[in-house]
Amino acid sequence: MSAETAVYVQSKYAKPAYTVESYNVRAWPGLEMVCHALRQGGIEVDYCSSATAGRYKVVLVSITSGCDWYPFVGERLRWPATARPTVIAGGAGLLNVRPFLRWCDVFCLGRAEDYIVPLVRSALAGEKLEHPSVIYGADFRLDKTYCIDAGTGLYPHAVPLANGKTWRESAYGCQRKCMFCAYTWHRRHVGGLQNEAGAGDVLWGGSAEKTIFELDLARPETWGLPKLRIVGLDGFSERLRRMVNKPITRDMLRGFFRGLAAAKVAPNHMKIYNIVGYPTETEADWFEFLEDLAAADEGWTKIDPQWGIEVHSTPFRPMPATPGACWPMSPINYRGRIVKVLSQGKHREYKGIFYRGNRFWAAESRGTESLPTVILDALVLRGLEDDSETIARLAGSTKFRNASMAHKTAMLERHVDIARLFAGYTWDTLPTRYLASYIPNDKLQNIDAVARKRAGAPWPAEGGTA
Ligand code: SF4
Repeated sequence: MSAETAVYVQSKYAKPAYTVESYNVRAWPGLEMVCHALRQGGIEVDYCSSATAGRYKVVLVSITSGCDWYPFVGERLRWPATARPTVIAGGAGLLNVRPFLRWCDVFCLGRAEDYIVPLVRSALAGEKLEHPSVIYGADFRLDKTYCIDAGTGLYPHAVPLANGKTWRESAYGCQRKCMFCAYTWHRRHVGGLQNEAGAGDVLWGGSAEKTIFELDLARPETWGLPKLRIVGLDGFSERLRRMVNKPITRDMLRGFFRGLAAAKVAPNHMKIYNIVGYPTETEADWFEFLEDLAAADEGWTKIDPQWGIEVHSTPFRPMPATPGACWPMSPINYRGRIVKVLSQGKHREYKGIFYRGNRFWAAESRGTESLPTVILDALVLRGLEDDSETIARLAGSTKFRNASMAHKTAMLERHVDIARLFAGYTWDTLPTRYLASYIPNDKLQNIDAVARKRAGAPWPAEGGTA
């Protein structure tokens, strides 16, 4: 008998013309783990595309991050009318079902390897599985609570990946608890440190990444330079970092820069992962970072080449079912703005650079995400049933996909209720109030209240309704 179940491969990952970025060379540990669990359970699994989805009874769709929704919806709209499999969506990017109810029959929240076998069996039999982490689109109720499966243990088997490698889970979740992060509030922390979990290495290999916490700041020789190329900071100022539970002090940041300045390795590029646009954030917070860099750079002899500090800023978007879930987002386009503000009209001869000193230059990374990207994410994270029409139009529009950033922004401003999506919410008005993590919601609310106090600045008013 041929398989009745298939994993859906979006065409962007399946094009044979892609030699680097195609399904066969990418590793998909989470999805492959689910396939492995199904095969162990005696369920045969194929791969399918929009052209072949109709041949299967059950099609599994992997949403690894929120941005996967748009190409999926774009393709889903063009599936042949006769293709009517039961569509089961899951993955780490599945954090709100409301705008997607019409395109998927079933949604799996959190880790699915423990319940995927009975779920698919039920779907094949035309039945439903009652499970706290499973939402049937047709039965979704906003006043019900659905639990994100946080997992209880590491997946016990070695999993062969589509790129030919084998992967064994060694850790998941994160030992820290940053206020906005799904990876720690939706998953228990099991196994080693988050950066040892290994999924990243399977995907990208190469450069190491650490948070400044993990470094012995007095001993740069222990940092793993020159392989250490990325460090996490996640806030321009100590106040903001403390607010989001990433208490990297100014002294620690200066200690990190001083350690680099003194390190006995050839200067290189160092990427600093940062988050921009937190509630209560002002440009004074940005200048604190510049001040700390300049202070750490003082007194050293000038060298050439210097350490290049690339500040890679991700605009803040709090994940559902985290303490920061209700926090407002900033509808500002930060791409290019950081360098504009921090350079104060200096260093114009170098694009992107806002600082040049003795041991360091510093620049805004070209990868700062633009406002249109953040708006599309906000629609995914905070969208409602009525937003699905807008999502369908955006997902199906080649004109939108190919538009310039300015044009995209203009189109989004016309069609999307940005004020609503970016507003602060209360725990009763939050569009994803139907979700629960393994930490009870009242505890998340208490932690939220503590973070707001830590902000030490007036909190923007709530305005979101849903
Ligand atoms: S943002 Fe914080 S909680 Fe999330 S993975 Fe990074 S260190 Fe862990």
